[in-house]
Amino acid sequence: MTTLAEARHRAAALDAIDPLRRHRERFTLPDGVAYFDGNSLGALTTAARAAVAEVVDGPWGTGLIRSWKEAGWMTLAQRTGDRIAPLVGAAPGTVVACDSTSVNVYKTLTAAVRLRPGRTRLLVDADDFPTDLYVARSVAEQHGLELVAAPAAELAGLLDERVAVLTATHVDYRSARVLPLDALTVRAHDVGALVVWDLAHTAGALPVDLAGAAVDFAIGCGYKYLNGGPGAPAFVYVAPSLVADAHQPLSGWFGHADPFAFSTGYAPAPGVERFLSGTTGVLGMTALHAALTAFEDTTMEVVRTKSTSLTSLFVELAIEVLVPRGYRLASPIDATERGSHVALGHADGEAVLAHLQAAGILADFRPPDLLRFGFAPLYNTHTEVVLLAEALATA
Ligand SMILES: *Cc1c(COP(=O)(O)O)cnc(C)c1O
Repeated sequence: MTTLAEARHRAAALDAIDPLRRHRERFTLPDGVAYFDGNSLGALTTAARAAVAEVVDGPWGTGLIRSWKEAGWMTLAQRTGDRIAPLVGAAPGTVVACDSTSVNVYKTLTAAVRLRPGRTRLLVDADDFPTDLYVARSVAEQHGLELVAAPAAELAGLLDERVAVLTATHVDYRSARVLPLDALTVRAHDVGALVVWDLAHTAGALPVDLAGAAVDFAIGCGYKYLNGGPGAPAFVYVAPSLVADAHQPLSGWFGHADPFAFSTGYAPAPGVERFLSGTTGVLGMTALHAALTAFEDTTMEVVRTKSTSLTSLFVELAIEVLVPRGYRLASPIDATERGSHVALGHADGEAVLAHLQAAGILADFRPPDLLRFGFAPLYNTHTEVVLLAEALATA
């Protein structure tokens, strides 16, 4: 039986040998706050703070129009993509940062269904994040496809030669359940379908091998575990074998092979840059580009090990201390099936959240009754996990 006092000692010992303990110093965390919402809005890095201040006064304030070339703004979306690529198992030059996740869902789903003419179905995880479902419905309507929405466990069984594209989110935003990305991708390819994986709760939290798994398209979010800042650019990955034939619908000049030729005919860039549309938002992209340096000097395997250690300690305390007090564990017990957040059901979830906030503990709530706690491996500690469990026990 774990007691909170025993857990405090164990947490201190785990923090002392944590290979990422110095990475926390790369963040500017407010005093008196324990932050468990890095799955929704990642914390501020000192690098992003400095880079945004610098770009405002220097390249923008002084360099002005010259900075598109001299400060490298023209290639910032690609260079930011190249910093994301190793975090998701992608080769350099196969990821670009741009737009929002929602917009990138639209661009990749449309490109994917265009590659499978004659098929009649778009298959989606019925429990996917709502914006993914809304956009999938639009794409299905625009291409005369039947939208088939099914629970994650039924997706494999629904894959047949009618399906043009399967789309799902790798880590469920409510439960943190990890979907079998490799197996579903293989199964989709077996029937000739393409896959679009959403890595919103994966990138920066758990490793994924997009190239190794032969994933066709992936998108992800810049402001969660990548810490790019509120509304940060999202990203797009396209398999090198597909990109020359992949045509996204928002064919703007930043995706043109030669934007400054100002030609009236559209000719897409040869690589993944064709998934860019309009002008890069330089301030936001600068923040994301700099924030990604927080992932230097480690690997996603080390990040995953720390993530698992944090969530496993919390799950253990939840089962022993919190479930007897009216909480319900709503995430997988098996760490290999769990992403980097843990959800607890509670009949008075919103009141519990308010109690936590009053104690300087930030988390979030998703209807109907789910409290969500994100454990960001680069800055959360085991000691904070015990603090959280204590606050929940006394809520
Ligand atoms: C966070 C999240 C989004 C967010 O989309 P935006 O366009 O950035 O608002 C989309 N999909 C999933 C699965 C998410 O978790």
